[in-house]
Amino acid sequence: MCRHLAYLGPPIPLADLLFTPPHSLARQSWAPLDMRGGGTINADGFGVGWRQGSGFVRYRRDAPLWTDAGLPALAAATSSTAVLAAVRSATVGMPVTETAAAPFAEGRWLFSHNGKVAGWPDSVTALAAGLPVRDLITLDAPTDSALVWALVRARLRDGAAPDTALAGVVADVSAAAPGSRLNLLLTDGETIAATTAGHSLSYLSTAEGAVLVASEPLSPDPAWTAVPDLSLLVAAPPAVTVIALEGVLT
Ligand code: GLN
Repeated sequence: MCRHLAYLGPPIPLADLLFTPPHSLARQSWAPLDMRGGGTINADGFGVGWRQGSGFVRYRRDAPLWTDAGLPALAAATSSTAVLAAVRSATVGMPVTETAAAPFAEGRWLFSHNGKVAGWPDSVTALAAGLPVRDLITLDAPTDSALVWALVRARLRDGAAPDTALAGVVADVSAAAPGSRLNLLLTDGETIAATTAGHSLSYLSTAEGAVLVASEPLSPDPAWTAVPDLSLLVAAPPAVTVIALEGVLT
């Protein structure tokens, strides 16, 4: 299943997340260590979004991250205070297109889903029917993750806090589609919210006041902390809180 990460803190070169660490996102694309739930490598596209001014810049491709000849130089030359990046292992039956690669984005939001919606698509048609028709006919891609993003986005547009939006969508999708895997990751550039429901996640708070949240630790640093399954993480650097996801059965 996909691997994702988010960073908030002092400006960091994208390369220090994507390429330089011993277990960088690039390495996690071809040698992930904890693909519980299926999949072997994450070769079906990738994306990185980073804060630039008051908004985000996003770069996505429908090819393996390691095949992008221009990305290492771009990542070395670009620094940001807020980054969300992902490498994708497409769920069987879902298209491999650039628009299906995280991060999904709107305004100040960047989002990623690691997992799958069980019984897709029939299990969640009733849930989808609660969305505005406009959102459905302009879905980023015909994938479970794009629908999960539309569900999260609808809650954010209604003014929900990031953690509340994620917990609400995990509860709704788990109820409609038991057995779904719903590791969600969201940032607005100031906070990170994340859930664990079926996949691995760890975080690191650095001495410089940065916070990193990632599917797999980027280094052997023992300061990386594993997040238990069925948790809700909120990071407002340097603070990180992890609480149990209430009322969610997967
Ligand atoms: N189900 C999602 C997709 O196919 C995410 C897959 C994953 O986490 N590997 O895009």
